[in-house]
Amino acid sequence: MRDRFLFIRSDLAQLAAYVPNPGGEVTTALDCLDANESPFDLPSQLKEKLAWHYQQEISTNRYPDGSHQVLKELIAQYVNESAEINPGVTKDHISVGNGSDELIRSLLIATCLGNEGLILVANPTFSMYAILAKTLGISIVSVERLETDFSIDLDAAQKALNSAQNPPIRVVFVVHPNSPTGNVLTSAELNWLRSLPKDILVVIDEAYFEFSKTSVVSELQQHPNWVILRTFSKAFRLATHRVGYAIAHPELIITLEKVRLPYNLPAFSQAAATIALQHRDLILPSVADIIQERDQLWQALAEIQQIQVWRSRANFLYLKLPDRNLEQIVQQLKSQGTVIRHTGGGLRITIGTPAENLRTLKRLKAVSV
Ligand SMILES: *Cc1c(COP(=O)(O)O)cnc(C)c1O
Repeated sequence: MRDRFLFIRSDLAQLAAYVPNPGGEVTTALDCLDANESPFDLPSQLKEKLAWHYQQEISTNRYPDGSHQVLKELIAQYVNESAEINPGVTKDHISVGNGSDELIRSLLIATCLGNEGLILVANPTFSMYAILAKTLGISIVSVERLETDFSIDLDAAQKALNSAQNPPIRVVFVVHPNSPTGNVLTSAELNWLRSLPKDILVVIDEAYFEFSKTSVVSELQQHPNWVILRTFSKAFRLATHRVGYAIAHPELIITLEKVRLPYNLPAFSQAAATIALQHRDLILPSVADIIQERDQLWQALAEIQQIQVWRSRANFLYLKLPDRNLEQIVQQLKSQGTVIRHTGGGLRITIGTPAENLRTLKRLKAVSV
């Protein structure tokens, strides 16, 4: 095979494609707790609004608004409301992507492509940074996290930065709170990020911001080398529409806009995100319910002797079963109807509906003894 496709980059030919969940299987009968989606569909009154908008306002023969003006304005307002920033951000501080995955790729293209730089990640963390970097031929420097609280091994991270790398480390990726482990950045980690030199881009992924209610957005002004990523895929219940956004200095935003595809976000998705923001009072109250369910499930799991479970600030829990074959446990749960994620040496379980969480507990109890 390989010698017939000699035009394919040799490093790419060796990579396997990322298999997205649910991987094409029929999943309606399963509790899908592996992708950190909201268990709740959009309220039907908002779906009706969206359908009306599609009917009345979207001409399918026309390209969508490639400037995302309306959406950017609303996002800027939302960002300003969710943090005390003075002066607030404007639409010039926002870039919108086809999921934040697209923005991650754009950031990599804008910084490291063409052998210009490496990225630094602390594992376990969101796998997409390394996956997307590899597809662009960008190498990854990884450091570990401390097993106690999953904070980054900062000595190792600083050593990696200090040691002459060729090309140098250009981007540091962190998630706040981290996936799959659920912990927010500590003040030591934040201080380290604040200390990084101007020639390193710091990406702070706040995909779970609505759950943790922690954000570094108020510090953006002091740190033009920081960019914050957020998404509509989690608390806003819009994973199907693929909308993410970056908040950063206008200069960096201009660069992101250069890199992205001209019509990267379909009109229907722009409308969905717009309607979701305008009616967030109908969407975001579910966050409190999910948090309550999470803490209840944590409590119940913490009482099971065979399970080691960590506190989480997001909509998932991370746990381990020492000396057990985790892959086997994932398969056992799946055969009972609960799909979870085996990642970073542990199990990550999304908080679902109350009924799903009860089944999760029952099934985990059954497989853990
Ligand atoms: C889910 C998630 C995202 C969201 O990606 P989208 O492409 O916007 O769906 C980004 N970062 C992290 C850490 C996530 O867990």
